[in-house]
Amino acid sequence: MNVYDSEQIAIQLAAAGYQQTPLLEKADLVILNTCTVRAKAEQKAFSFLGRLARLKKKKPGLITAVGGCVAQQEGAKILERVPHLDLVFGTQAIDRLPDLIGKIETKRCRIVDVAMAEQPDPFDAAPAADHHSQVARFVTIMRGCDNYCTYCVVPYVRGREASRHPDRIMEEIKLLVGSGVKEVTLLGQNVNSYGKKEGLLSFAELLFRVQTIEGLLRIRFTTSHPKDLDQDLIDAFRANEKLCSHIHLPVQSGSNRMLKRMNRNYTRELYLDKVAKLRDTCPGIAITSDMIVGFPGESDADFDETLDLMRKVEFDGLFAFMYSDRPNAPATQFKAKISEPLKRERLQILLEMQETYTKKKNEGLIGSIQTIIAEGFSKRQSAASLDEPNPAAQWSGRTATNKIVNFYHQAISGNGGAIFPGKLVQVKIEKAYAHSLWGKPVDIDSTAGGLKGEKSYAA
Ligand code: SAM
Ligand code: SF4
Repeated sequence: MNVYDSEQIAIQLAAAGYQQTPLLEKADLVILNTCTVRAKAEQKAFSFLGRLARLKKKKPGLITAVGGCVAQQEGAKILERVPHLDLVFGTQAIDRLPDLIGKIETKRCRIVDVAMAEQPDPFDAAPAADHHSQVARFVTIMRGCDNYCTYCVVPYVRGREASRHPDRIMEEIKLLVGSGVKEVTLLGQNVNSYGKKEGLLSFAELLFRVQTIEGLLRIRFTTSHPKDLDQDLIDAFRANEKLCSHIHLPVQSGSNRMLKRMNRNYTRELYLDKVAKLRDTCPGIAITSDMIVGFPGESDADFDETLDLMRKVEFDGLFAFMYSDRPNAPATQFKAKISEPLKRERLQILLEMQETYTKKKNEGLIGSIQTIIAEGFSKRQSAASLDEPNPAAQWSGRTATNKIVNFYHQAISGNGGAIFPGKLVQVKIEKAYAHSLWGKPVDIDSTAGGLKGEKSYAA
């Protein structure tokens, strides 16, 4: 969501005459877009702001700004704490940025704008074209959250849940596809409740509408709340041609006692039932999740229940976090806090267990042919070496199940084969690592085998 918001910030500022630079020292304006979902993210933001002070000393004309959830949460307090900061803007102030920056440029004043829209928020601005030439992009379909999980700061910093009108979403995706985008990930804190409040389409209906966009090859989405995952959405995995066979379905804990204290509104039994339905409907679907360890009151028995759930589900991947207190979140007041060393120990156990499942799932793909969309150079590829004529560059893409596949492909010319990203590639998987796969292209730009992925298993 922050990646999407940063892109929106760049779009707004491009209209105001700014352009992006990869070099911090060259910037006339530095914006830090922050996250406050866990304490560590907030600490990182403040430590970066500390480093920015040195830059501002060297370049007094530099404008510095903080946006996002830390800005929303702390407001004017950040200006007090960080004397070199010019602007604090909240999660709903992005479209006001050009005005805010304009005022600072002319008056050299310091501003805080953390105003949230009054209900109902139409959140309906027409999308603006932009010039990021990526293959895969995020599109926000709703913002805010009404679920109030007891550990979570999101409802307080992102506001009430509000869905965008489907027409705006379609316009934005068509604009992106027109600029070369092949895959979109629809974003919301709980996409399953898309449109319910406003009486718009259901999320499954929205997915079918998005599927009709010509030139778009793949659709992904995140995040799904288990309590709201309905049969229509489960069926969409089979019926929607472009929907990738991967679902991120955060469970947070395997203990019913903890789920209740977290206010998640489902039980482990309901979660396991939804997993079974997903796998019945879409065999081979990848299921990933989020887990919190050390939630206040989590006993050894509760933690064992979490490990037991992991054994039952065998997730394809897991984001696991140590619980941290967040401002306004009710769990901050809960008794029976878990010590940091115990949290760390539980996290370690959980991650080690998950590693065996991730490895097993990845190794199971060796010998299969996977359809990926070439997205760009792999992380290990040095773009500079591509100025040589026809080097074999290392490229990267993802399977329908969202696993990263790296592979060699001969670059077409000295510019590193700029026309290659966006091509469909059939890759035979040869090696499996903890976080990626390695393969050999066997066919390029063919839709044979379908976009949903796995064509055949040769091993
Ligand atoms: N809306 C999504 C959901 O309901 O699962 C995700 C929201 S949150 C931005 C992403 C993840 O951060 C959560 O799934 C949770 O695992 C983790 N998280 C949120 N608050 C946390 C906290 N106080 N301490 C540790 N992890 C937290
Ligand atoms: Fe936070 Fe719960 Fe909303 Fe997810 S569903 S954003 S965890 S309150």
